[in-house]
Amino acid sequence: MISQNLSKLKASLPPHVKVVAVSKNHSVEAIREAYEAGQRDFGENYVQELIEKKEQLPADIRWHFIGHLQSNKVKYIAPFVHLIHGVDSFRLLKEINKNALKNKRVIACLLQMHIAQEETKFGLSSEEVYAILESDELKKMEGIHIRGLMGMASNTNNTEQISLEFQVLKKHFNDIKKRRIPHVEFEIVSMGMSHDFGIAVTEGTNMLRIGSKIFGERIYT
Ligand SMILES: *Cc1c(COP(=O)(O)O)cnc(C)c1O
Repeated sequence: MISQNLSKLKASLPPHVKVVAVSKNHSVEAIREAYEAGQRDFGENYVQELIEKKEQLPADIRWHFIGHLQSNKVKYIAPFVHLIHGVDSFRLLKEINKNALKNKRVIACLLQMHIAQEETKFGLSSEEVYAILESDELKKMEGIHIRGLMGMASNTNNTEQISLEFQVLKKHFNDIKKRRIPHVEFEIVSMGMSHDFGIAVTEGTNMLRIGSKIFGERIYT
């Protein structure tokens, strides 16, 4: 099922849109099946779960951290993480930088921008994003490479509202991309999940984070 889901999904997407298979709450076997179908980018939300899975799976998987990352857990993923999508504070960025340097790495990060109407979703305001990007402190962070923005639209059936929220993110992405800022190279706009990826594609995403559409519904125990 998983390999069919993947090939169907990929066939429906323009070639510039990358798919991160969100494997949280899914088994190592399920990830292996997607891997054997050619998938290499996987996304996880919880540090402990990610570490346990990584140990059992091929080394060439690119692990994306897409959840809310706590500063005190950065050290566990810093040696290998491919892209951190959910950077939502300067404090977290500093911690990532520190751990990147310790591991002699430069860690790619996306700043998470708050675009939804819901209060509960994590993320930075556009003002906060610009403040981080323009800060002198960022210029000194040799372990950080900011590669774009991530956002989550409101969890609603109102497709017009979802479109508008994605448009806001894409507009900021384009504006920032035009500037020349050290350690910042905007290439990735991570927007779109199982229920809204079609809208995200229309609005110009180039990275989708897709879970249930590939692996089936998550079973929480
Ligand atoms: C779980 C999750 C996804 C994937 O959700 P699906 O609806 O299963 O596609 C994408 N992004 C984030 C941040 C998530 O936590």
